[in-house]
Amino acid sequence: MSTDSVRRRNESAWLLPNPRTQVRTPWKLREQMRRFDDREELDAVIVGVGAGGGVLSQRLARRGWRVAALDAGPFWDPDEDWVSDEAGSHALYWTEPRLIGGRDPVPLGSNNSGRGVGGSTVHYAGYTPRFHPSDFATATRDGVGADWPIGYEALRPHYADLEEELPVAGQAWPWGDPHGYPHSPHPVSGGGEIFLAGCRRLGIPARVGPVAITNGVMGNRPHCIYRGFCLQGCKVNAKASTLVTHIPDALARGAEIRDSSMVTRVEIGADGRASGVVYRRGGVERRQRARMVILCCYSIETPRLLLNSACGRFPDGLCNDFDLVGRYLMVQGAPQTAGRFAEEVRMYKAPPPEVSTEAFYETDPAKDYRRGFSVQTVSPLPITWSEHVAAQGHWGEVLREYMRDYVHWVTLGALCEFLPLPDNRVTLAGESDQHGLPVAHFSYSQCDNDRKLLAAATDVMTHILEAAGAEETVTIQRYAHLMGGARMGADERSGVVDANLRSFAVDNLFICDGSVAPTQGSANPALTIMALAARLADHLAPRR
Ligand SMILES: Cc1cc2nc3c(=O)[nH]c(=O)nc-3n(C[C@H](O)[C@H](O)[C@H](O)COP(=O)(O)OP(=O)(O)OC[C@H]3O[C@@H](n4cnc5c(N)ncnc54)[C@H](O)[C@@H]3O)c2cc1C
Ligand code: SF4
Repeated sequence: MSTDSVRRRNESAWLLPNPRTQVRTPWKLREQMRRFDDREELDAVIVGVGAGGGVLSQRLARRGWRVAALDAGPFWDPDEDWVSDEAGSHALYWTEPRLIGGRDPVPLGSNNSGRGVGGSTVHYAGYTPRFHPSDFATATRDGVGADWPIGYEALRPHYADLEEELPVAGQAWPWGDPHGYPHSPHPVSGGGEIFLAGCRRLGIPARVGPVAITNGVMGNRPHCIYRGFCLQGCKVNAKASTLVTHIPDALARGAEIRDSSMVTRVEIGADGRASGVVYRRGGVERRQRARMVILCCYSIETPRLLLNSACGRFPDGLCNDFDLVGRYLMVQGAPQTAGRFAEEVRMYKAPPPEVSTEAFYETDPAKDYRRGFSVQTVSPLPITWSEHVAAQGHWGEVLREYMRDYVHWVTLGALCEFLPLPDNRVTLAGESDQHGLPVAHFSYSQCDNDRKLLAAATDVMTHILEAAGAEETVTIQRYAHLMGGARMGADERSGVVDANLRSFAVDNLFICDGSVAPTQGSANPALTIMALAARLADHLAPRR
């Protein structure tokens, strides 16, 4: 990888302070940040600064767009705000009230959405696989799910660019569209070695990576120190989040990042076009005018904002003429199986993302289910481990004994491709939040295919651990990630946005976050969301 070519298109890693100064936040850039007036009509206002909004802010600022990106949460300072402690990280999550329902309700909060500049990438694990070409055409190839209006080829160059910018470390990847990574694989811990050994014995191919964690220095970003607090926010800037990989460059190129700004409504003018957004900052209601509005609030909050932006022209919610907003929301089934080993393994002594296999990703015609799953190391810290144990019904003395035994356990996690179903959706609840806005109600029910995938993935994880010598295994059922809710489609009857992420209903309203995905594969989603943002910036460039 030529770092010069990365630096020429994204200087973020070089704009962070040198770690020898003991300061990790680019304070000067933040102080000198351009600040726009609310009354000024910007080229674009971006709502939400996570995976999608962070990349888009940087790309548009680079092209000279006058752009402000508003986020409901704070502008994090890794030194002050984050701690290497599991319980101390709860402020990172979106914990505003939300209601859940359906036959298989999905707990919301720390496990699926973040809040603040960097969004969920601040506390994501950092696994960054690409989607497979098959993910874009599951209806045609497998008779389930939906086809995207774009193919894998449309994202391939952006995947490669972003893998360099994050940068991603890992072994050459044999699955999907085979490719290599710019940084070599990290050394693996005891947990990773056990996963690799179990796979070797069963003949299952597995690889180290792909993780968005520097293996060597990148600009002023240091090497990972392998302390395992990636899900609490990486204090040293080794793990990629858009807070460190894209926002510094966006600031240097003239974007404004306006934190603590909760957008409550998209405003539609008499001409039927978006004229800007209404937001609350410091207890005061304000308006930001813009020629274009781009929503990047992720799968629950983007549909909620559209529904809360109902107006005379859109009485059932913005862009909701065909009752599609909030529908086809997906989570990945994410069972975790833990195995006990006689020797001390200490799974926490490494980044949780280490090793994975995508050998079960595609449809296997011999099976009675469609699509598949991936398996990865997950390595929960003690509080999460205690939840794992308590979910087995253990309490009191037995729970304490499992906790004392923590250093002997290794945990693997699967990501199962749950299918997009119309009734898995966000609607508005009767309850309101602190701003007086109706909160989201998220209903979820699994289909037969989903359940079969869960069972198959659990079997595979158990076999891998047993093949590596586990004396006992336990499984916990959980969910991970969110995708869909305002999906792309070929036309307004099949999607909320088109192939270029422009809403069918409002000419100058775009959506660029996880909610636009028609299917989710069994890959972790952040890299694909970033790639969609990079592609959108290329598409929008000529407009200025
Ligand atoms: C614990 C955890 C681990 C994960 N691990 C991985 C992983 O290893 N690999 C991977 O690929 N993915 C992982 N993910 C998922 C990944 O982080 C998300 O899929 C991705 O960040 C979503 O990108 P986004 O741009 O759609 O939204 P986000 O990154 O969530 O950003 C949305 C932003 O919008 C803001 N916002 C929302 N509503 C409003 C509003 N009304 N006004 C203003 N701002 C608003 C929020 O504050 C937030 O900052 C993980 C997620 C979690 C929670
Ligand atoms: S293990 Fe590495 S990437 Fe994870 S938080 Fe620690 S230094 Fe950051």
